[in-house]
Amino acid sequence: MIRMEHLDNLQRVQETFENEAARHNLKGAVGVADFRSVFQTLLPVQQNKLEDFCGRGLPGLLKGGSVISFAYAPPEYAIEAIALRGDDGYDKRSWNIYAREYHRLNRALDATAERLAEEADGIAIPATTEGVGTVGHVEDYNGMVVSHRVAAEQAGIGWRGKNELIVNPTYSCAVRLASVVTNLPLERTPPSDRGCGDCHACLDACSFLRFKDRLDDYREQCRRYIIYLGLDEEICGKCIKACYFDSIYRHRFKL
Ligand code: SF4
Ligand code: SF4
Repeated sequence: MIRMEHLDNLQRVQETFENEAARHNLKGAVGVADFRSVFQTLLPVQQNKLEDFCGRGLPGLLKGGSVISFAYAPPEYAIEAIALRGDDGYDKRSWNIYAREYHRLNRALDATAERLAEEADGIAIPATTEGVGTVGHVEDYNGMVVSHRVAAEQAGIGWRGKNELIVNPTYSCAVRLASVVTNLPLERTPPSDRGCGDCHACLDACSFLRFKDRLDDYREQCRRYIIYLGLDEEICGKCIKACYFDSIYRHRFKL
């Protein structure tokens, strides 16, 4: 009987997500992970941030709460527009097509998080890292945002790729994420049993990723490169484009 309630609630969450995706004219995926397990996997500084979101609800969530994890994918043309070359190097005008989609996805994710939180009587954890404050080093982000990747991995949105992004079996790692925490009794969705295998397309596309084991923190090199690019949003995406178009799964991915 209890199981039926969990399944019914999961179906309601999935339907709400599908309605939201249709409203925003986006494709995506939704899943559910165990709150305690997600919390325990986060870095201590991110646990503190999640605690800020949950407030006095934290003890209850740790007892039986869930994290609804969801993703939206950009259209294929936005990924195609990344890092095209013109006569004078990179064509940044076309690259900014991806920047605009990135911004649109963040807005849609934030709105959907609010809608799902309303439906599940939960708390929305927004997608966006836009406008989080001044960052002097990539580690500064750790205390400013909650990593959605941990919840996405545990909820089966995708597996953790060699580029550290979540790789969805349909949309590749070209997905952006947000989450909702809730005490609504919810059936959990299992983690993906797939992985990158022999693929190394993203490593071929980016020397920071290729040599990440030798760098102090490749994410800082990535952050500096993104600032150097100076696009309309703080994005690069070359490793995402490589995953979608060049990986061993390229014939299975479809945006
Ligand atoms: S976003 Fe760009 S710089 Fe950062 S890891 Fe991916 S390809 Fe490398
Ligand atoms: S490009 Fe290949 S190795 Fe990199 S994340 Fe995608 S599937 Fe994994």
